[in-house]
Amino acid sequence: MCAARAGQRGRRVLLLDHWPKVAEKIRISGGGRCNFTNLYTSADNFLSDNPHFCKSALSRFTPRDIIALLQKHRIGFHHKHKGQLFCDDSAERLICALLQECAAGGVTHWQPCAVQAVEGASSGFRLRTSRGWVAAPALVVATGGLSIPQIGATALGYRIAEQFGLPVVPPRPALVPLAFDPQQWAPYAQLSGVSLPVRIRTGNDCPPFHDDLLFTHRGLSGPAILQVSSYWRGGDALHIDLFAGLDETAWCKRKIGNRRTLSAELGVHLPQRLAQQLAASTAQAQQRMADLSDKTLRTLWRQWHDWQLHPSGTLGWRKAEVTAGGVDTRALSSTSMMARKVPGLYFIGEVVDVTGWLGGYNFQWAWSSAVACADAL
Ligand SMILES: Cc1cc2nc3c(=O)[nH]c(=O)nc-3n(C[C@H](O)[C@H](O)[C@H](O)COP(=O)(O)OP(=O)(O)OC[C@H]3O[C@@H](n4cnc5c(N)ncnc54)[C@H](O)[C@@H]3O)c2cc1C
Repeated sequence: MCAARAGQRGRRVLLLDHWPKVAEKIRISGGGRCNFTNLYTSADNFLSDNPHFCKSALSRFTPRDIIALLQKHRIGFHHKHKGQLFCDDSAERLICALLQECAAGGVTHWQPCAVQAVEGASSGFRLRTSRGWVAAPALVVATGGLSIPQIGATALGYRIAEQFGLPVVPPRPALVPLAFDPQQWAPYAQLSGVSLPVRIRTGNDCPPFHDDLLFTHRGLSGPAILQVSSYWRGGDALHIDLFAGLDETAWCKRKIGNRRTLSAELGVHLPQRLAQQLAASTAQAQQRMADLSDKTLRTLWRQWHDWQLHPSGTLGWRKAEVTAGGVDTRALSSTSMMARKVPGLYFIGEVVDVTGWLGGYNFQWAWSSAVACADAL
């Protein structure tokens, strides 16, 4: 996006990438259909040490603008839910569109081409690459994060930042399944495949998310977990409301004339296998709802309304959709993405400490930051 736009503005652009295939993450994203934006994108959908940083770029290249690009290339798309837009066909169409835009801007494209070293020079930068030395007055680093090293993610962007004296917020896996100590998880491992809607939060600055949670052999996954994983820090508890939508009073009223056992009643609200598992650890499981005291019902409701679990870690870089942390935004201009103290050096996309929620926000940040940069080159 940045190369195409800069080229079309008359800049002479060389695009370098070490991986044999172009835009691999667009290709594999959204189950092959790329959730390329979210209609409701705002700064509130991003994590960053500086939550205001992303506002300028997001306001200047919006979801409407990326939609216009798809329309220009006659790429069909649809709204799935919660503002998420996906390509109708293959994400490959979007990659072709970006390559056509690059061609229209006269961009020279070397791929695969490894970048072995970067040097500052009086007139800009010199790069040692697998195809020889190149020199340029400006260098845009768009190397992404560390997620999915099996398709080419590397730490080059962070290394360049550090080489030029820019601080880096320590990168950590985000939008990632969470794992539990195998012994602690043993009773739940058999629930693998069970999914249910929940309300969930963790840590101090995590907003509550309403989405589906999925039990796995090793822990928890599903959109609800991916969302909170970006906020989760070692030692934090997950607070899960299994009764999302059923308030305390409504639950207590369920006892009136109810001859079901507590175990059977749980099965009305939750998937059967989970209901049985929770009942197995509840002394009153076989008592009839009608016979339970209000006090007991309230205690049980509070327990499942705020079910607390302590993950032992994440499934790491190989399973993380994105990387939280990255080049510290305090070192960058929010209008141009240029390093304040290194004229001509720019950082865009996921390598920057701006991380979107699940739902198309990360691509929107990639497009918006790319355009902000291109327009300043
Ligand atoms: C499985 C998966 C699904 C996803 N689905 C979605 C989705 O549906 N919607 C959404 O918004 N986001 C999604 N994301 C996140 C999204 O893909 C990224 O946030 C986005 O691609 C970041 O764009 P970028 O240009 O900053 O980095 P990337 O797309 O990661 O591109 C970085 C490029 O830099 C190259 N590179 C890396 N190191 C070097 C080096 N040393 N030398 C030369 N080149 C190098 C890489 O080969 C790569 O081509 C998904 C991520 C994954 C892993």
